[in-house]
This record gives sequence, C-alpha cells and structure tokens, in this order.
Amino acid sequence: MERIKNYIDGKWVDSKSGETFRSNNPANKGEVVGVVARSGREDVDQAAKAAQGAYDAWRLTPAPRRGEILFRAAGILLRNKESLGRLETREMGKILSEGLGDVQEAIDMGYYMAGEGRRLSGETVPSELPDKDMKSVRVPIGVFGLITPWNFPIAIPSWKVFPALICGNTVVFKPSSDTPVCATRFVEALVEAGLPKGVLNLVHGPGGEVGEYLASHPGVDAVSFTGSFDTGKRLEGICGAIHRMIVTEMGGKNAIIVMDDANLDLAVEGALWGGFGTTGQRCTAASRIVVHRKVYRKFIEKFKRRASRLKLGDGLQKGTDVGPVINESQFNKILREVEIGKKEGAKLILGGKACQKGNCSEGYFIEPTVFVNVTSEMRIAREEIFGPVVSVIEADNLEDAIRIVNRTAYGLSSAIYTQDINSSAVAERDLETGIVYINASTIGAEIQLPFGGIKHSGYGRKEAGGRGGALDTYSRWKVIYRDFSGRLQKAQIDK
Ligand code: NAD
Repeated sequence: MERIKNYIDGKWVDSKSGETFRSNNPANKGEVVGVVARSGREDVDQAAKAAQGAYDAWRLTPAPRRGEILFRAAGILLRNKESLGRLETREMGKILSEGLGDVQEAIDMGYYMAGEGRRLSGETVPSELPDKDMKSVRVPIGVFGLITPWNFPIAIPSWKVFPALICGNTVVFKPSSDTPVCATRFVEALVEAGLPKGVLNLVHGPGGEVGEYLASHPGVDAVSFTGSFDTGKRLEGICGAIHRMIVTEMGGKNAIIVMDDANLDLAVEGALWGGFGTTGQRCTAASRIVVHRKVYRKFIEKFKRRASRLKLGDGLQKGTDVGPVINESQFNKILREVEIGKKEGAKLILGGKACQKGNCSEGYFIEPTVFVNVTSEMRIAREEIFGPVVSVIEADNLEDAIRIVNRTAYGLSSAIYTQDINSSAVAERDLETGIVYINASTIGAEIQLPFGGIKHSGYGRKEAGGRGGALDTYSRWKVIYRDFSGRLQKAQIDK
C-alpha cells in the first residue's frame, strides 16, 4: 500500500489537514492501491500560488527548451510503460493491453508536443501600408486548472498537461479520485525530466470540493475539464459568471450505423470492441448500434454470439476481454439503467446482471449486456450509461439511421459500416459528431488530429494535435503591428 502525496512548488507533501482517502482495485475491492492525500482549499491556495510564482520564468523559457523537458518525460514514460500499464489495470480495471495503450498515447502526446516547442508558429502577413510589418504570435494564457476523469488515467492528463506546458502555461492539476496513483506516476515522469518547481502542481481530492474551488480560484486564469456533462456544465456556469475561459470535454452516446451492404463480420467486431472495450467506459464507446432492417436479425444473432463469448475478469490475467467497472456507485447506476431499459420495453437478450462467475464477485463486474428492439425515445438510447450496455436499434434506410444517430443531446463520435462510397460520403457530411469513422468503430482516435465533441459532448476548442487542436486551447494569439516609417500612418485611411 503506497502513500500518495500532493506535489506543490517542487515538493511532495501531505495535505494540510493530514486527511487521506483510499484508491482501490475495482477488480478486487479488498486491494488498496494507494492511500492518498485528501486536499482542501488551503492546498489549492498553495498550489495556485506556486503556479503563479513559476509563471514568468516558465513563459520566458524558450519553447524548444520546454520541449526538451517534455521529450525526456515521454522517454521516462516509455521506460516505465510496462509497470504503468499494470498499475492502470490495478487502479482503473481496464485490461492490460488497454492499459499499455493508454500509456502509449501519453508517450505519443509527449513526443508530439515536445516537437511543437520548435514550431508554435504564427503568421506574418503583408501590411496595407509601407514601412510596416505585422505578425501574430502564440502566447500562454497563464495558470491553467486541469481536471481529469478516471477512464484514461494517464492519457487524458497527458492531453492537457503536455500542451499546456509547451505553450508556456503553468498548471494546477486535479485528477480523478478513482485514479490518483496513475496521475501521480505521470507527474513523477515530468519531475524526473527536470521540470522547474512550481510549473506543475498536483492536488488530490474530491471534485465537489477541490475541483470546484480550483476552477473558481482567483489565481487560476483558465480551466480545462474532461468528465461528465453534469460536472462540465456546472463548471461552465461557474467560469462564465467570473469571465474565465473554460474548455470542456464531456460525455457521449455514440453510435455505429450498420448498412445492409456492410461487411457484417467486420461491423460485429467493431460493435463488440466499441461497445465492450474498456468495459464500455470510453467517452467514445459505441453504446448504440443502428442497423439497417434488412440485416437487423442477422446482425443481432452474430453480435449476441460474439458478446456472449467475452471473458470477464481481472485485466492482469491473460485472455481477459472485459474488466470491471470503476466503482460501486457506477456499478449500481449501470444496473439501475438496465432495469429502466427493461421497464421501457426494450428486449434484453444478453447479460443485464452482475457477474458472479469465478472471482468476479470480488470486484465490480457486470456481464456484457445487449438490448434489442430499442427506440430512440427510450432512456437507454439517450443517456450515457458508461458501462458494458449496448442498445441495438432498427433503421429503415440511411437517412433514417442518420436521424436516429443525431437524435441525442451528445455529439462526440459516430461510425458507419458500408461498402457504398456514396453512403459513406453522406454519413460523413450529415452525422452531427466531432469525430466520424468509416468502416471502423467509434473508438481509436489518434493524437495528431484534434479530438473533441459538439453539443453536450464538448464546449470550446479541441484537445490533441493537428490544426485547431490543443495549441489553440492552451495559447492565445497576440497580434503585433510595427511601423518603422517614422511618420503617422493611419490604416484604413492613408491607403
Ligand atoms: P466526473 O464528471 O464525475 O469527474 C471528472 C473530474 O471532475 C474528476 O476529477 C472529479 O473529481 C471532478 N469533479 C467532480 N465534481 C466536480 C465539481 N463539482 N467541480 C469540479 N470538479 C469536479 O466524470 P468521471 O466519472 O470521472 O468520468 C466519466 C465521464 O467523463 C463520462 O461522462 C465520460 O464520457 C467523460 N469523458 C469524456 C471524454 C472526452 O474527451 N469527451 C474523455 C473521457 C471521459
């Protein structure tokens, strides 16, 4: 059992109150992964002060030098990949291959953002006037408050911390209380890489207290949040009222369309991986499968057969396909949603209950669950359940399928399986989501393009790389006009 501390102003410290909380293994409730500093307001005050104090020196550090530190941190994550992947499985429950994938994403993000240190480019454009030049430059925003969820416990912090730092911001980072040990290991990599004190500060503790106080703290200039819609919306309200920039990445009710001309076996694999991968706990998880009526029955038959063979268990054990859900409250919530689905008239054809086989009763295991005869009005087709529950919905044709997919408050990811280039083009154009996949599942975004959703899935700019990605979130444009004519020149007038 490990003691996990805050990291404030270059020191590992307990919370001011000395209080702690426990992080447990969801596959084995009895196993405590870490005993963690439970912070309060004073700890956030100290962290914000440290981040403010370090800001000037960090923003004036040449971006390529900042990039070198990120590059080293990525190398340290790579060196520790195996142990970090195992830790993810123990603390969050995802199977080992997914844990390793999560760490790899952070490594990729580290190297990518390290390179941005040598790019961070703006524009120089010609002036309307003689003897005048003009340019735009990226400048940091200040102290960023970063708040992250538990489902990608190293990758999501990396999506925020690396771009925030490369742009010259300093950071107060509050990770999920379900995965504090993973977050701590991530911060340790940056510390080992030589990050100056105060540039990155880590504060553990409950969201409602520490997270909310951080978001509204006078020492913070901007907030980046990933988590549920309810929390994100609340924080948008708080930040809006104090004129503070906030970016939110929130939930999803993602769907896969399976057309009558689809390669059905491929579509079944995509639905399986999208629906039950990471136990359905990805923001991009495919929780709705919208199937053309001509292949509806055949799809269901194949999908059920494949889903019933998935092996549940501890993700560290070879051959496990699906791990536990994160904690007791999610476990209970998912089972409640299943009951609601049954009451609404959806037909349960697989799962729907806690798994009791083998060692499953030691953790929060729920059987892969499939509902059919689902309609878009039903709650299970609208609300994010965030567990291994998939709803299959019948559609008459492409237009009907697209309408069904769009009939939700969320707009993160969607997919279509079809052999018809015209159908794929229409779907690509008309699906109202931030990300669209063609002949691939709703999951598996790559970091070199922007990531994020619309509607209830996101507010503000995007995460990850590419044009319009994280650099636009973590920096702002400053525009410089320089007149070297030595006389008064009035743009718009002296033309
Ligand atoms: P959550 O909203 O419960 O918590 C997210 C973070 O916010 C945690 O650190 C938590 O401690 C903190 N928090 C909770 N209440 C707070 C408050 N009142 N003020 C400030 N901070 C508070 O979400 P979760 O259960 O950790 O994560 C699951 C959710 O995250 C799902 O909805 C999922 O779709 C979403 N998610 C979205 C993306 C994306 O990029 N769109 C990625 C991953 C997860």
